[in-house]
Amino acid sequence: MDNRFDVKKIRRLVVKTGSRIICNDQGLALDRLRALAGQVDLLRRRGMEIVLVSSGAVAAGQKKLKNNSRSLNLKNKQAYAAAGQVSMMTAWEKALATHDIRVAQILLTADDLADRHRFIHAKNTLFTLLEMRVIPVVNENDTVALDELKFGDNDTLGSLVASLSEADIFINLTDQDGLFEKDPRENPEARLITFVEKTSPAILAKAGDKGGSSMGTGGMYTKVRAAGRLAERGMPSIIANGLTRDILPRLMDGEDLGTYFKPSQKPRGSRKHWLAFAARPKGVVVVDEGAAKAIREAGKSLLPKGITSLEGQFLAGDAVSIVEKGISGALGVGLVNYPSHELISIMGRSSQDILDELGYCHSDEVIHRDNLVVYEKE
Ligand code: GLU
Repeated sequence: MDNRFDVKKIRRLVVKTGSRIICNDQGLALDRLRALAGQVDLLRRRGMEIVLVSSGAVAAGQKKLKNNSRSLNLKNKQAYAAAGQVSMMTAWEKALATHDIRVAQILLTADDLADRHRFIHAKNTLFTLLEMRVIPVVNENDTVALDELKFGDNDTLGSLVASLSEADIFINLTDQDGLFEKDPRENPEARLITFVEKTSPAILAKAGDKGGSSMGTGGMYTKVRAAGRLAERGMPSIIANGLTRDILPRLMDGEDLGTYFKPSQKPRGSRKHWLAFAARPKGVVVVDEGAAKAIREAGKSLLPKGITSLEGQFLAGDAVSIVEKGISGALGVGLVNYPSHELISIMGRSSQDILDELGYCHSDEVIHRDNLVVYEKE
């Protein structure tokens, strides 16, 4: 048996159900929703709190509006989501009402969670619902989310909701048994990986490319990436098969089903997790090699001296990406203490010059270490 988690310590679960669980080729798979509702009831009777992140609005809407095309454009998807979301929520409501469980719908966009105030409001609502013993059912607000505003997939949304909910575990239910050594559709002999110590680039590579299923948007890649991000947050995750009988209670009985992702021993706090994965950078600060090294290896703050150029316009308090000059991809993200129009005149200079140049100096650092996250390699 893998040494997974102490089941006695699990009080709050975030369970994500993928489109392929919620829908079949005919539309909403009501029998599966009923089965899951029964499992949710069982876990609640054991004193656990559950938040559902449910996909399936687009797939349900497409069936409802009788469109069988495989290629969907954003406009159609948004229309299907609007039609399907209500059917999906009705199905959850009915399935859970059989067990006297009430539900509430929360629809979110990436922008909602990128804004720290809205993030906190969403969190407060979620906590209030849990206190009222109501099950929140979360989905992306597909109807209003524009392409670039989308979480892109409910795996990413699920991991942000797990973080927001301060859950003890994230369970990602899909139609596969978990992460395999090789793609099981092409290699039927492929071995299931039951335990992931760390989501290294090699583990992510096993999850294949970023393309998703025809019903949902996320594939195994986004599931593994979501689990890895939560591990950095200090939260365990399991990717498991939602079609396996009694999957939720069996996992909570400690059965080694699915793929378990071990949480990091040096977790990031909730705020840093938000900064790393939910905040949307408004601009870029380009830094020299020395500053990049000090940030990456010595855990230092970013001083004006190390900045070589800026991109975009931002205000004090905004999130910005930190990029090393000449190197592609951001090395991290942080909250800036100075707006771009002021930073332009202090970059490359010593912190002692800030007061002279700006007439005030509320900190020597442009980004304090407490507000800075260095990305792990994905
Ligand atoms: N939000 C989409 C839906 O409800 C699903 C996105 C996903 O599957 O990742 O259909």
